Amino acid sequence: MEFPYEPRDVQSEIIKDIEKALEEKRNFVFEAPTGTGKTVAVLYPVVKYAQKYGKRVVYLVRTNSQETQVIKEARKLGVKAIAIQGRSNLCPLARENKELSEGNAEELSLLCRKLKKECVEGGEGCPYFRNFLESSDKMREYIEEVHTAEEIYREGVRLGICPYESIKSAMKDAFITVAPYIYFFEPFIRRSFLENIGTSMDNIILIVDEAHNLPDFARELKSLELSIHSLERMEKESLEYGNPMVLGYSLADIAEYIKEAIYLLQEFVGEEDGLIPEYIFEEKLSKLLNIKFSNLRVLSSELVKYGEMIREDRAKRRKLPRSYVYHTGAFLYSWMESYSSEYLKLIKWDDNPTLEIFCMDPAILTDVLRNTHMSIHMSGTLSLKEYRDVVSLPQDTILRKYPSPFPKRNLKIFYVEDVTTKYNEVDKHITQFAEYLESIISLGRNTAVFFPSYSLMEKVKKKISMEHFSEKRGIKQTVLFSILERFRNEGGTIFSVFGGRISEGIDFPGRQLEIVVIVGIPYPKPTAKLRAMERYHEAKFGKGWEYVFRMPALIKMRQAIGRLIRGPEDRGVAVILDRRVSQFKEIEAERSENIIQDIKKFFENE
Ligand code: SF4
Repeated sequence: MEFPYEPRDVQSEIIKDIEKALEEKRNFVFEAPTGTGKTVAVLYPVVKYAQKYGKRVVYLVRTNSQETQVIKEARKLGVKAIAIQGRSNLCPLARENKELSEGNAEELSLLCRKLKKECVEGGEGCPYFRNFLESSDKMREYIEEVHTAEEIYREGVRLGICPYESIKSAMKDAFITVAPYIYFFEPFIRRSFLENIGTSMDNIILIVDEAHNLPDFARELKSLELSIHSLERMEKESLEYGNPMVLGYSLADIAEYIKEAIYLLQEFVGEEDGLIPEYIFEEKLSKLLNIKFSNLRVLSSELVKYGEMIREDRAKRRKLPRSYVYHTGAFLYSWMESYSSEYLKLIKWDDNPTLEIFCMDPAILTDVLRNTHMSIHMSGTLSLKEYRDVVSLPQDTILRKYPSPFPKRNLKIFYVEDVTTKYNEVDKHITQFAEYLESIISLGRNTAVFFPSYSLMEKVKKKISMEHFSEKRGIKQTVLFSILERFRNEGGTIFSVFGGRISEGIDFPGRQLEIVVIVGIPYPKPTAKLRAMERYHEAKFGKGWEYVFRMPALIKMRQAIGRLIRGPEDRGVAVILDRRVSQFKEIEAERSENIIQDIKKFFENE
């Protein structure tokens, strides 16, 4: 097998390092900037090794669009690959129906199981599944040629054959399987995923793309919420289903009492959230319901039982099998079961107070990485040691950072000394931020400005009279895309916040973006939750502040700066309006005495 391109120096280096890691059977974590050509540089040595030793390759992605790139490279390498996505994308019944398209993996799987069973038993069931049973060969021929999941979806719809089942049944024959993270990290889904591939864990070489997302993904997967809105829906649902009695109370009344118990937790709220001391919620709820503490378990299992009946009924009527009674029961059960140091019990206080069971330790799920033959993790911005520790990879994991393949002179980073967003100083700098921004906007270059929060953005915006585009809190995807379209076509300045969609997921090639301005250091807000995370990481790794506050701020800034250079022709200037950036040596920012002159000078030297 030949490398399908003229390799860049950095690609040759990655290939050599991965070959060594495979030989030594050591996990490999690396950072290489966007534009390096990481995907093919990883696939090439992995596929060669896997072919030689009879291994299988699983490539995990965060978004569906990343799958397309992997399939494209697999075609170039001439190996059989297949990409699977969730039913919300690959089930025509779900995709064509608004309510179903919002279902989660578990709900859609339940509905699908029900409809398939009906089919097999001679009932109406799912027409796409019936056609799959009768003529799956037609799809198999198509899949043989290596197509993206979206192409397979379209072909499935054209032939009336279930694309999801077709992909599932073809996974055994594919050499590379591309899948979203959840297929590997959710234990229940992983079991059937491995069965479909037809291999065991220790025979898999795992590739994790955009790996910086993995720790938060795993934390979220193990966390659960129960909100006042969800309990209001439980009340409504209970009334629709005859409002049955449990422990002497109707389900609607139980929802009311749980709401009341949540409101009683306000005393623990600080600024916007608060930690709930052990067993306090249970105490308050059992007192309100006038039942014994131990009966709360009975209550939760009864709610789950009624919830399951509701879900079954809804699936039978081809509705999304979602039940708020079920959700409440499952939440109460988990609340009582998760008393260990990895979990936090919290209340978030806003117009929809919400209880949260938050998992601080992604290793609870990512520990499984140690069972693979070996794993490779890559990203454009990754804090290597922290990542290795937090996802619990062995200490002998190889860590590498590769330089940008593009000329260093194409990017310049400046900072100014006289402003900061430090919490006790930020208010006195609002006017200065606005003045800096106005003078940068007046240069007439395409500029993106990133703020640490919407509230700061609004305060500064009030003092700016020059025209600009702006991303608003809770903006709809379609509206955001039309703003971006105008920004790309007309040029100008766009205001956004860190963690918003513009700072991470959207590319601006060529001259579409020339200047990035970062207003302040985007440290996460020190909520009760993050303070507890800090203590946990301090106790586990001795690096609480570093892992919970400093690293996320660093990664956010690097990602925003990374928007500027996506190809060899791109040039750009990043300006950081905060003196504290001098503490981030990794950013290599140069102090500027006259920022406007420095920017002009950079572009004059083009
Ligand atoms: Fe959807 Fe396919 Fe399941 Fe039918 S068999 S419900 S089309 S995923």
